[in-house]
Amino acid sequence: MVRTNTFNKEEFKKDIKDNCKLLYRKNIDECDDQQKFQAVAYSVKNIIIDKWIATHKEYEKQDVKIVCYMSMEFLMGRALGNNMINLMAYDEIKEVLAELGIDINVIEDQEPDAALGNGGLGRLAACFLDSLATLEYPAYGCGIRYRYGMFKQEIKDGYQIEVPDNWLKDGNPFEIKRDEYRYEVKFGGYVRSYRDEKTGRDMFVQEDYRSVIAVPYDLPVVGYGNNTVNTLRIWDAEPVNTFNLNSFDKGDYQKAIEEENLAKNIVEVLYPNDNHYAGKELRLKQQYFFVSASVQRAVDQYKKHHDDCRKLYEKVTFQLNDTHPTVAVAELMRILMDEEGLEWDEAWDVTTKTVAYTNHTIMSEALEKWPLELFSRLLPRIYQIVEEINRRFVEEIKTKYPGDQEKIRKMAIIYDGQVKMAHLAICAGYSVNGVAKLHTEILEKQELKDFYEMMPQKFNNKTNGITQRRFLLHGNPLLSAWITDKIGDAWVTDLPQLKKLLPYVDDEKAQQEFMQIKRKNKVRLAKYIKEHNGIDVDPDSIFDVQVKRLHEYKRQLLNILHVMYLYNELKKNPDMDMTPRTFIFGAKAAAGYRIAKLTIKLINNVADVINNDASINGKIKVVFIENYRVSNGEIIFAAADVSEQISTASKEASGTGNMKFMLNGAMTLGTMDGANVEIVQEVGIENAVIFGLSSDEVIRYENEGGYDPMEIFNNDQAVREILTELINGKYSPEDPEMFRDIYNSLLSNQGGRRADTYFILKDFRSYAEAQKQIDARYKNSAGWAKSVMLNVANAGKFSSDRTIEEYVSDIWKLKKVHVPMN
Ligand SMILES: *Cc1c(COP(=O)(O)O)cnc(C)c1O
Repeated sequence: MVRTNTFNKEEFKKDIKDNCKLLYRKNIDECDDQQKFQAVAYSVKNIIIDKWIATHKEYEKQDVKIVCYMSMEFLMGRALGNNMINLMAYDEIKEVLAELGIDINVIEDQEPDAALGNGGLGRLAACFLDSLATLEYPAYGCGIRYRYGMFKQEIKDGYQIEVPDNWLKDGNPFEIKRDEYRYEVKFGGYVRSYRDEKTGRDMFVQEDYRSVIAVPYDLPVVGYGNNTVNTLRIWDAEPVNTFNLNSFDKGDYQKAIEEENLAKNIVEVLYPNDNHYAGKELRLKQQYFFVSASVQRAVDQYKKHHDDCRKLYEKVTFQLNDTHPTVAVAELMRILMDEEGLEWDEAWDVTTKTVAYTNHTIMSEALEKWPLELFSRLLPRIYQIVEEINRRFVEEIKTKYPGDQEKIRKMAIIYDGQVKMAHLAICAGYSVNGVAKLHTEILEKQELKDFYEMMPQKFNNKTNGITQRRFLLHGNPLLSAWITDKIGDAWVTDLPQLKKLLPYVDDEKAQQEFMQIKRKNKVRLAKYIKEHNGIDVDPDSIFDVQVKRLHEYKRQLLNILHVMYLYNELKKNPDMDMTPRTFIFGAKAAAGYRIAKLTIKLINNVADVINNDASINGKIKVVFIENYRVSNGEIIFAAADVSEQISTASKEASGTGNMKFMLNGAMTLGTMDGANVEIVQEVGIENAVIFGLSSDEVIRYENEGGYDPMEIFNNDQAVREILTELINGKYSPEDPEMFRDIYNSLLSNQGGRRADTYFILKDFRSYAEAQKQIDARYKNSAGWAKSVMLNVANAGKFSSDRTIEEYVSDIWKLKKVHVPMN
């Protein structure tokens, strides 16, 4: 690859030293590690800044169409290492720091993760930004600058404790505040309407509202090996007036305090719910806040060079990452009609050519349905517009299906006192996509069947992907160097090149090199675990990993129940032939998700008992890694032998963790769910271990009202044994009742909730059998090496570069912009 920047080591070294002086009035050797990190980050920003300016100059000059990727979440992780990688300056900067006596890993570890997201959905947004910049597409990420991102997880006595994540405490060296792009966002009050006598138009004005000022902060998104630097624009809230405490006007005083509080609260914290709708008023405020500011900015940007808003869609498109930003539909209508003077039909034509929607889940508890009362009180003008969109849509349904009241009940945007955001997004969007082949099929055939029948042309699939720049090149430098040594470095921007590794999978020497690298990565993780958990783990054991958000559908419970089962088997038969296994978990649970938090406690208590039982000779170890996030994820993926992807079939829309493991040479142990289906298709079923009910079977059982887990309890002695251990104090001697709720969730129907909703007992035997297969397969070391090398070689499809090219050609229709540097 041609280096696009001429990196000068001596200049860079001087720049770091200068930054130490400018920022801290210190020589570099007097700075602490955090200060050194800041100095290095500003020096890297100094390389980025000219490219950033040039990129936006070129976009304006070429007057190209831009995608605004609208997302409540951007799970960016750390920026410094990634920026150095994408500038193709990582090794040089590492050398410069070494010459200054500084370890680059220590510097990178000073940076807090930008954890502005929960899990997969937020990380997808971050991977997409990386690919868009690398592929030279004009793009903005639009989101919220949460003061506190995803909470830090501490484990105390086995319990999860949530600690606020004050990620901006030391300042963010990469961000730039853009005071010139301030926008007012209005909440509440009422709508006054009148007839404009001159034009004869009906006018609508929001009165007696409370408002905040949205102020954007820009973060650079550096493309790999090119001059493109796109922008992640995250909005902060400031009060309209820094109010006057001495005000004698009581009315103003009250309003001023309310507006001060509104600004403070709105961007205070990220809601820690993954795949779950909580219906909180502040959440709706957050949504409208960043959407309104982003849409206002996009229209203003357009108007700088164009005067006809009826052609807005030629220059901008809004991609909605789930329904969270769906108020964008009504906000764009409002701006086009109330501020730009378009008629309804003109505004609707523009809007329905500008907005596109990505669906991320079919689980009913995740669907956003706002109570009418709340929605109309908070956003009175937006509500009027949604009402009118609904009125027209219902008319359309009536025309297409005369007399079919059922269709209206199922498809209306407003029904039963609720505003259904998915219905609004589908009705107004020009594209509706699922995130894996199976997921899109389920949308079309089941969940969104009626919509698919009425507007099939909108529906399409875009299987998710991940960026290999972060999850291989940065996270796994040893494997990256090995791959590049074998096949060259084109895979960094063209992941299907990994197929060129195929000739090596049967080569004994290559297999040994590959497994030696895996072992070194396991030693790196073992060291991390020793430092953070105080537990010794054996790098020659199988590293069996499940890291992802804690959710019942992801079935961490199935995993730990199997560990309990395996432990019993081993106790009964101490000479049992098995390769030592380290079961590694990492997961945050939403703060209010009781059964999820109890599952964390169960995992930790089981770990305590097993890790301290000398009689099993360390054949099983269980580790719960605290505070799983992007930065320690990079270390974990590189070290995994087994990738646990065991969701109840039909529940995981895609998954992207599965792809990170595959790319790093782990074998998937999984159900036929989400993108696992496509992983198996790419790598071959013989190079993965698949178990459990199919999505069709799960859906059939659900339609029949479930199955009877008591039948399994009564007939399977080993299962009965582990379930009994949940309530006999084996893992909680101080409180035998501690895990009763988990026991009950598996065996009893509870208030409209089916026993074993997620088919854990139904799939247990099949899972235990699959786990035995893993053990057998690992014994054949050449066979194992070949299989995991085949996983890497066939991971090409799962680059987010491929996903983005599909979004561009099927949905966004963007043009590449090559940014020249003088
Ligand atoms: C990739 C990733 C996820 C998504 O993992 P899944 O297994 O697909 O749920 C969640 N959190 C972090 C930190 C990730 O990097």
